[in-house]
Amino acid sequence: MFERIMSLITGIFLLTSLSCGKSADATVPADTSKPKGTDTSTVNEKFGMPFYYNFISTMKKQGYVFWDFEKFYYADKSKLPQKLIVIRHDIHGRDIEGAVKANEIEKNLLGKRVATYFVQWNDPTEMSDLYLQQQYLDFINLLKKDTVDVQPHISANDLYLYYDAPSWKDKDVTALKSIFDECYEINVSNDSSASGIGTTIKVKTKDSMNLKGMNERMIEVLKIYNSKWETATGLKPRYYASHGSHAAINYVLNNQVILDQLSLLHSGAYLFDTYNTWIANYLTYLSDNSIPSWIGNPSEVKPGRYQLLMHPWVWDNYARTMAIRQAASAAAAHAVAKPTDLVNHTPKTAAVNKPKVQLKK
Ligand SMILES: [Zn+2]
Repeated sequence: MFERIMSLITGIFLLTSLSCGKSADATVPADTSKPKGTDTSTVNEKFGMPFYYNFISTMKKQGYVFWDFEKFYYADKSKLPQKLIVIRHDIHGRDIEGAVKANEIEKNLLGKRVATYFVQWNDPTEMSDLYLQQQYLDFINLLKKDTVDVQPHISANDLYLYYDAPSWKDKDVTALKSIFDECYEINVSNDSSASGIGTTIKVKTKDSMNLKGMNERMIEVLKIYNSKWETATGLKPRYYASHGSHAAINYVLNNQVILDQLSLLHSGAYLFDTYNTWIANYLTYLSDNSIPSWIGNPSEVKPGRYQLLMHPWVWDNYARTMAIRQAASAAAAHAVAKPTDLVNHTPKTAAVNKPKVQLKK
């Protein structure tokens, strides 16, 4: 039984491990394994992604407007719709298949240019997988035919480490954190009348990690990446969505913080990163990273303006994830309740699981 519980927990970990950033700003808790109010068999036949179809059609009925990041960036921010969803898809290798379906659903229900697809093409951790790189390019070409907004999903830290070898390159998280905390201070300004909205990293004692040099090189590296992207895809990259990298430096100086620095934002290498401080002033972050229950029950989402982070793979596997979660919960509850009864026993039915989701603004 212990092995079964561990395997279920491992299953959940694997299902949720490819996250892209901050924890979710969620909603009212509830749970479901079927989308509410949709004929799933028909939708499955046509699009093969019933939870996303149901989410979009439900929110549309509720009066939501759907934009890509280009439209959001150039919009008059004082006149944003009351109910707005700016759709962001982070596309890793596992998301490509579902992303094709998501694009079809958006075309069918919403029309053109309603979502930005941030594709993880040529990330240094995957560069050697030529087959995967071709899959990314094939997908980008497919979106190009539909004139969809396609931009890079990048890890600034991994790109930097691919092109440069700083003195701290081989240090672990603990060592890096110790140096960083001793030498630097992260300041976030949200005052547009002063230096601008974004991050400044102040040197408290000494620039031991040579962050000045790192930032200068980072701008060059981003420009090199942009140039390669443009050559490979025929599209000009203009903004990014940061990837949640597992590089040690990313646990100390996160990609989102790096790309929120005013010095980088003023460099001309990119217009913005979707995690930038100024964007959070207009859009609440609604992420599927923790596989929230509103995927199955969209009416839980409170009226507002959102940046929706949607990983197609997560929505394609939502029912399976919930089943594993419920089974793990039932098995764990059983193990706690009857510790002597752990051998050769499988619960007949999985208990209904109502995960508690915290509302954050
Ligand atoms: Zn990612």
